[in-house]
Amino acid sequence: MKIKLTLILLTATLSVFAQADPTSTPTSTTEESYQIPDLIEFFNSYTTLSEEEEELSTLNSSFLTSHSSLPLDSIPDSLYIACADYHPITTSQRVTSRFGIRGSRFHFGIDIGVPYGDTIRSPFSGTVRLATYQRGGYGRYIIISHDNGLESVMAHFSRTLVKEGQKISAGQAIGLAGSTGRSTGSHLHLEFRLFGNQFNPEKLIDFNTFSINTQEDGNYLMTIADTYSHRPQLEEMKRAAYHRIRSGDTLSHIAKRYGTTVSRLCALNRLKKTSILQIGQKIRYR
Ligand SMILES: [Zn+2]
Repeated sequence: MKIKLTLILLTATLSVFAQADPTSTPTSTTEESYQIPDLIEFFNSYTTLSEEEEELSTLNSSFLTSHSSLPLDSIPDSLYIACADYHPITTSQRVTSRFGIRGSRFHFGIDIGVPYGDTIRSPFSGTVRLATYQRGGYGRYIIISHDNGLESVMAHFSRTLVKEGQKISAGQAIGLAGSTGRSTGSHLHLEFRLFGNQFNPEKLIDFNTFSINTQEDGNYLMTIADTYSHRPQLEEMKRAAYHRIRSGDTLSHIAKRYGTTVSRLCALNRLKKTSILQIGQKIRYR
């Protein structure tokens, strides 16, 4: 309760900061005083809209949805993301699986161990873009297009409490934790996306303290270099290719077939030269 109250006060203070006139900062064209645009500004400058569209483009969910997938190369190196209305998603501090390479897959979010039926809340205000069910994957899941331009994906709910198109406020209950989809045990899978590109939620939120990594004005400074520091890993993974072991395969057969060496195969798959291969096992050769 104490934490909650402090957060409310903090949020209120931050909102005051956020309301300070952002246009009052003088803009200059010299390189030294380059102003980092905010995400919303960038959205609006990215597409040239007719006047009529301009009026409609105040970042409603359909606008976000239709512009939500951009390659990282076309995004500025740094952007401010308005996070002053942040509210913790859960009261659990138990991050059970982190963002990044997990076996032969890339885990595009983090998993937080949350007791079954616990309330999950929206971190920022926004509009529910999707509230649906995916068998064997996300299970019951929600995608929220936040007013600050971020999208969050939350999955494996036992029950969802919001509908598609519904406007929600920061801290609003959106669902109850569960274990639907590909999941062993009750947990929340959480992703943050910027133009469809996931980044590590722990860059933005500290799940030990529930605090958010923002500046005094409540903005998170997104930089491609830091926020997307996993990019080389991801590119490396995209280059990866696999061979499925069939009867009679040996490491030297596989090495010869794909123009590599047994040592390289061993290193890529953390195998020894003498390791026994199982039929159906996936061996990475690139
Ligand atoms: Zn997960």
